[in-house]
Amino acid sequence: MYPINSDRLVRTFVDLASISSPSWKEEGVIAYLTDALGAMGVSCERHPCGDSFNLLASVSGAVKRPSILLSAHMDTVVPCDNVRPVVRGGKIVSDGTTILGADDKAAIAAFLEALASIRERDMKHGPVELLFSCAEEVGLSGIKGFDARVLRSRLGFVFDSSGPVGAIVVAAPYHLSFRLVVKGRAAHAGIEPEKGASAIRALGEIMATIPHGRIDAETTANIGTIAGGRATNIVADEAICALEIRSRSKTKLAAVEARMRAVVDTVAHRHGVKVRVHRSLEYSGFSYRPSDPVVAAARRAIERIGLVPALEASGGGSDTNVLNRAGIPSVALSVGMQKVHTTGECIRIRDLENAARLAMALIDPEQADPAGRSRATTPRNRAASRNRRRR
Ligand SMILES: [Zn+2]
Repeated sequence: MYPINSDRLVRTFVDLASISSPSWKEEGVIAYLTDALGAMGVSCERHPCGDSFNLLASVSGAVKRPSILLSAHMDTVVPCDNVRPVVRGGKIVSDGTTILGADDKAAIAAFLEALASIRERDMKHGPVELLFSCAEEVGLSGIKGFDARVLRSRLGFVFDSSGPVGAIVVAAPYHLSFRLVVKGRAAHAGIEPEKGASAIRALGEIMATIPHGRIDAETTANIGTIAGGRATNIVADEAICALEIRSRSKTKLAAVEARMRAVVDTVAHRHGVKVRVHRSLEYSGFSYRPSDPVVAAARRAIERIGLVPALEASGGGSDTNVLNRAGIPSVALSVGMQKVHTTGECIRIRDLENAARLAMALIDPEQADPAGRSRATTPRNRAASRNRRRR
């Protein structure tokens, strides 16, 4: 089912991986995609975003049904200049001096191969939107700068999760970030330290006391950076730290934030310092049940290509969070990339093939029914699916 051209797929991936595309500098990938899609008669819209563009391609279809969205990001982390992909032993790796960029070019190559195969086989399908975001690796900036109201799709599938094809990320956390700015009082450290109020000392106590690390199965907190002070002979009048709290539970997120703020207030009072708390919601979380249409459609497609769906909850965010917030029910799907964000990044050709076949299966209207008339929602199928997952 869903045959693809493996040699062409690997070539496309190697071509894409060889194009340098750090965040906000995706022009090479945009040009490549515009050409490749144009050659298949698919036109692309460039949506300006910061110094770059998000790219949206719409593929019309003969089958009448609501559009589905397939999404991937075009940027990679660094080092990504002069990537030289090496195809060896059923795997693709970099030469060890750069990342490979399977995150997320494996997905882009899979989409192009799926479209090419569908055209060659004259497979009937419904409308599909392909969204290629820029600047995902820097706080989901690209998709945050995209006006999702232009999308017609009612279900979204973001191909941007690591591990073997078959995993569906059905839940991901809310993510709050904070900057704590502690204002103390400077004084000569040797002559009259008692006239000072050390911002560093107060911040130290705050950092040692607030919730940190793994808080529970779905909640984490982390202090990421600290700065402050001027010299050893000055009682520090300013100290700053940046931290984050994540949870898949909005209630727990709020509870951890409240505990942190209580610590801040208590310590600030005791040390006679002022603390300004700058807060921002980086993205919202989401959580789906196995029977929800977007999950059911992903499961059917994965089963259709002969794999076993595995439903996962993630501790990280992706473009999926932003699409969900914009009202398009979306899940993230694994595309086979491994050891991402390292120079040891790799992908098995088998997984790359499966990612392309999965894109085809989702596009096939027999499999991805956006209206949610799902075989998987019957109790019998639910039980069967549960058992599969247990194995
Ligand atoms: Zn990614």
